[in-house]
Amino acid sequence: MPKFIFVTGGVVSSLGKGITAASIGLLLKSRGLRVVNQKFDPYLNVDPGTMNPYQHGEVYVTDDGAETDLDLGHYERFTGSTTNRFCNYTSGRIYDSIIKKERRGDFLGGTVQVVPHVTSEICESIRSVAAPDVDVVISEIGGTVGDIESLPYLEALRQFRIQEGRGNVLFIHVTLIPYLSKAGEVKTKPTQHSVADLREIGIFPDILICRTEKHLESDVRKKLSLFCNVDQEAVIEALDAPHTIYEVPIEFATQDLDTVILDTLGLRAGRRDLKPWRNYIDRVINSDYTVEIGVVGKYSELLDAYKSINEALNHGGAAHAVKVIIRNVSAEDIEKEEPAKILENVNGILVPGGFGSRGLDGKIAAIRYARENRIPFFGICLGMQMAVIEFARNVLKLDGADSTESNPETPYPVIHLMEEQKKVMNMGATMRLGAYPCLLKNDTEARKCYGKESISERHRHRYEFNIDYKEKFESAGMVISGHSPDGILTEIVEISDHPWFIASQFHPEFKSRPVDPHPLFRDFVGACLKYSKRQPQ
Ligand code: GLN
Repeated sequence: MPKFIFVTGGVVSSLGKGITAASIGLLLKSRGLRVVNQKFDPYLNVDPGTMNPYQHGEVYVTDDGAETDLDLGHYERFTGSTTNRFCNYTSGRIYDSIIKKERRGDFLGGTVQVVPHVTSEICESIRSVAAPDVDVVISEIGGTVGDIESLPYLEALRQFRIQEGRGNVLFIHVTLIPYLSKAGEVKTKPTQHSVADLREIGIFPDILICRTEKHLESDVRKKLSLFCNVDQEAVIEALDAPHTIYEVPIEFATQDLDTVILDTLGLRAGRRDLKPWRNYIDRVINSDYTVEIGVVGKYSELLDAYKSINEALNHGGAAHAVKVIIRNVSAEDIEKEEPAKILENVNGILVPGGFGSRGLDGKIAAIRYARENRIPFFGICLGMQMAVIEFARNVLKLDGADSTESNPETPYPVIHLMEEQKKVMNMGATMRLGAYPCLLKNDTEARKCYGKESISERHRHRYEFNIDYKEKFESAGMVISGHSPDGILTEIVEISDHPWFIASQFHPEFKSRPVDPHPLFRDFVGACLKYSKRQPQ
């Protein structure tokens, strides 16, 4: 059986529990252990697929088509592993499963209760990722200790530790050590209270990860150790990473966090090897040349809405040792002002995925600007659909060409609903989701970029390129360079007579890793770099 690590959070939210859990995954993996990361979200939505990006940030899609929390993106990027639908549970999903069992009569007329039914369902969900080939399961509990919503999870973890045996389960509490400038000192009291809350429930943290702005002196560590009942070497300092979040595991390694974990769990593992990881960070830190890329989306002010895209652009930059500056541009602003003004001096333009009609004309204007001025362009999902519409309207002169998503009455439905989507009524988990194979056409930029004919990429959409228009587009220079193996679905389009103009119906950003940048992001940033060198400085 694997060992289990639980990561909880205290004092405030947004402490970076996801990055912490991902970093621990990387450290253990770098010692040769097989690790699975998992996240529990205590809200009642069944999955984040239908949630507003303002509230939830990006929806991360797994190979097996689950719409999940963006922390799974951190897990995959840090550990290089592939997550699946068992790596993310919400309370909604847990309750949904229990209620279905109750309706089926599985409980034989018994009263269905939070303890033991909800807690048992949570324990089963933890075990759902504990395959025989896994050494360590790392489960992150969303929310903050003290929240009403988190209580069933904490109670489940308490029971789980008894079921699995004390030596097989480890608790890590991520907490905040605030600095009071007036007093000139850091304060441990909120952490003491948060640990006291956990102890009241019956959970005794083994390790504290202390988020802090100031270095923790040894007297502070001693105090935390004494009052929170953890060993001194298990008090780990987590300062804000100076350049990139990918430095966090290195900081933990310096404090031997992985050794403390292995010792506490009685696990034997190899020596830590973080060489490729350190190489990546060196490239990020030492890149002094910068390129600026305009990301024209609907949520320009939201840091988390395009999380994986931002990360993938940085990975692509590191591949060329350049720093990528992202200019988040609101598509609606381009509707009010000239693209040339808003996108002045960018070295590349990316239009990400999205839903709904807000800002579509701005996206189309930005794409036209990129196409006509030969600025590198990368379109993703809705970004590809808008590139197709732009080309139809302005090159093929199909006046009023559109997607039936935003204009069902369009005379030229160049983007239309996929056949299997026509009968779908529900919103949740009903799109074309997850990994699908795609074949790349010879002698295209896409084929050159991937360096192979057959690829697999993740999808999340309902609409697609209308294949009836294929000839028209191709004869005018927009080529279908990637398609489903049966040739029916268009997965990539590109403009041959343009320095770099590629748009994909899938989401390549989900598969980019710092140590293994996605080829499309790598080459897009490469094209932006080339473009920037041609511009007067
Ligand atoms: N709204 C579009 C569709 O459903 C694009 C989706 C996306 O960009 N993820 O096809």
